[in-house]
Amino acid sequence: MRILLVEDDIGIAEPMTEGLRRLGYDVTWVKTGREAIAADPHDLVLLDLGLPDFDGEMVTARIRETSQVPIIVVTARSDEIDRVALLDLGADDYLVKPFGFRELTARIRAVMRRVSDRPSPPEAEVIVGRLSIDGRTRTVKFDGADVILTPKEYDLLSYLASDAGAVLSRDEILRAVWDEHWWGSTKTLDVHIASLRRKFGDPDLILTVRGVGYQLAEPAS
Ligand code: CA
Repeated sequence: MRILLVEDDIGIAEPMTEGLRRLGYDVTWVKTGREAIAADPHDLVLLDLGLPDFDGEMVTARIRETSQVPIIVVTARSDEIDRVALLDLGADDYLVKPFGFRELTARIRAVMRRVSDRPSPPEAEVIVGRLSIDGRTRTVKFDGADVILTPKEYDLLSYLASDAGAVLSRDEILRAVWDEHWWGSTKTLDVHIASLRRKFGDPDLILTVRGVGYQLAEPAS
């Protein structure tokens, strides 16, 4: 997961960057609002309010013009009005300095969870062979017949279908479908795959690639 850290204070930014990288986040650190607005898309933005060029309200508003990326504002101010205004502008959460690293990571996880629960923008129907997946309704048809999936089964199937024919590693799948920091049993994945195979009645729909992961069979053309 890629995090954009916008913070002009080295004393805060360095330990934050280091700590987040240790947890496996891919962190880009910039020091100004200008760089934040110009940055490539990230999965989450940590935004300090007191920047040398623009204020955080403006940066938030500018980012929101083009992106729904989750934004956690980091503020030294404790003014209630500011926080409300920020949330109104489109920030997803805020942290008041000083904060502990654990609080930071808990907020990141909470925001990412909320975002993944948001209804996603309508996606076109994805068709892979006999399978059709409608992202707008989260429904799946196989040979034209509805197949009822649990939310996780649906997420897993649509992730595999997003790159049909490619071998996706177990790690990749667990990170994408479960959680960036999944420490649970990897058996969970196998159980869901088995369940998908059962529901579709076609063991060859999802292939096991021994020692690597899984592959949604690309239809023969
Ligand atoms: Ca600052």
